[in-house]
Amino acid sequence: MQLFYLFVILVLTCTAMGQHIIRKQAFSHCKKGWENCEKCQSVYEYKYALVLIGSSNSPEPSRPITKTNTKWVSYEVEKWFSSFEEAQEYSQKNNVPIEIADEDKYPVLQKLSHKLPPKWILQVNHAQNILLIYRPKVIYTYQENRINAQSIEEIVQKYGKKTYPHIEYTIKKPLTAAEREQINMKNEAISKQIQALPKKYNIEHLTPEYLHGEKENTFPNYPNATNAEKKRIQKYQKELKKLEDEYIPTPVYSTPDFDLWNESITGTNSALERVYPEEISEETLLVLKTIREFFTSNK
Ligand SMILES: [Zn+2]
Repeated sequence: MQLFYLFVILVLTCTAMGQHIIRKQAFSHCKKGWENCEKCQSVYEYKYALVLIGSSNSPEPSRPITKTNTKWVSYEVEKWFSSFEEAQEYSQKNNVPIEIADEDKYPVLQKLSHKLPPKWILQVNHAQNILLIYRPKVIYTYQENRINAQSIEEIVQKYGKKTYPHIEYTIKKPLTAAEREQINMKNEAISKQIQALPKKYNIEHLTPEYLHGEKENTFPNYPNATNAEKKRIQKYQKELKKLEDEYIPTPVYSTPDFDLWNESITGTNSALERVYPEEISEETLLVLKTIREFFTSNK
C-alpha cells in the first residue's frame, strides 16, 4: 500500500517537472499563425527547438499545448537551434532525446533544403509519403488566364482560391534497375508505334510540324484537308490517344533511397491558372528549377 502511494507521488512529481525533448517546431510571431497574420508570414520558420513538455499540470488556454500518448499537455519552447547539426550536438551533450524530423532522415533532402530560396520550407510527412516544399505565404489562384491586365489583382484576390505556394511529390521506394529497364523498353516501343502512326494513316503530308520534329504527337487541325483525309485524321487521333494511355508512368525524380512521383504545383501562372501576387509565380518557378537541377545533377 505504501509502495503504491510512493509510486503515485513519483509519477506526479515527474509530470509536474515536465520532460525535455528536441523536435521541430513552428516558429511564429503569434497564435494566429501565418495563414492569418502578416507578421507571422514574415518570421515563420520550421526548426529544431528544445521543448519542455508538460511544463504545467493544468494546461491553460494561454499556453501552447501538444498531444502526448493519450492526453494534451502544455509545452514551452526553451531554446531555438539554428541548424539540425546544432540540435544534434545539444542532444548528445545534454542527453536530451531528439525527435528527428522525417525530412532530416534523408541527407539528400537536407542538402536540397539548403538550396531553396529563403522562406521556403521542405517537409516530409512519412505517414502519408508526401514531400512538401512550400512557402508559408498567402496567395490566391484563379482558374482562368484570360483576364485583362488592369483587373487581374482585383479579380484574382476577390474570386480566387486562398492557398500558398507549394510543390508536392509522393515518395515511394525506388524502382529496381530491372523494373526501370522493363518500363523504359515498353515505353520506347509505344513511342515507336506513335512515330509510325502518320505513315500508317497516310497523313504524313498533313503533318509538317511533326516531320520537323518540333511538335511530336500533336496533329494540327487542317481545315484544308479533304473529307477522306479528315476521316483518317480522326482514326489517327483515336489510336494516338489509345497509345498514349498505354504509357507506363515513371517517377519524376529518382534517388538511391526513394523515388518522387506525381509532381503537383501550386503558385505559378499557367495557361489555365493565374496567381496573385504575380511575383510569386517567378519565385515558384525558380524553386522548381532548383529542384530539377538538384536531382538531375545528383544522379
Ligand atoms: Zn502573428
